[in-house]
Amino acid sequence: MSYEHILVAVDLTEECDPVIKRARELASTDETKISLVHVIEPMAMAFGGDVPMNLSQLQQQQTDQARERMRRVINKYPELIENNVHLPYGQPRQEIHELAKKQGCDLIVVGSHGRHGLALLLGSTSNDVLHGAPCDVLAVRLMKKAE
Ligand code: AMP
Repeated sequence: MSYEHILVAVDLTEECDPVIKRARELASTDETKISLVHVIEPMAMAFGGDVPMNLSQLQQQQTDQARERMRRVINKYPELIENNVHLPYGQPRQEIHELAKKQGCDLIVVGSHGRHGLALLLGSTSNDVLHGAPCDVLAVRLMKKAE
């Protein structure tokens, strides 16, 4: 059985390359659709919502940067179609699950870092995405960078 619609979750760092490449390998037929998602986490969420300053300018910069980085990724992988690229705002796990459901994806691909505890195998976001996922999840092992 091959996957019909693969959703690739990317953090838009250079680490998203092995994650996208793995998804392409799994797209065994030309009919397999690949979608990309990067979730922009609202500034207010990161600061706990109670910040005595206007975050709208910072938020705009964050959005512009995400759009620009996503554009570079699309240029690098010509089979990725702009229509299949999503930049929602919110909490990564929730947005990724919702999108996978809405788009009828049968596989979510994420990257995973070696970390401590349970997260030795799965990084925080990948671990989060796995729980309660509406379809299969593949965690692509990301190599630790030399420090
Ligand atoms: P992390 O656990 O945050 O180090 O990220 C591991 C993986 O989770 C990344 O390789 C991506 O596949 C995914 N990921 C992290 N942040 C995001 C994000 N904002 N939007 C979509 N996917 C993400």
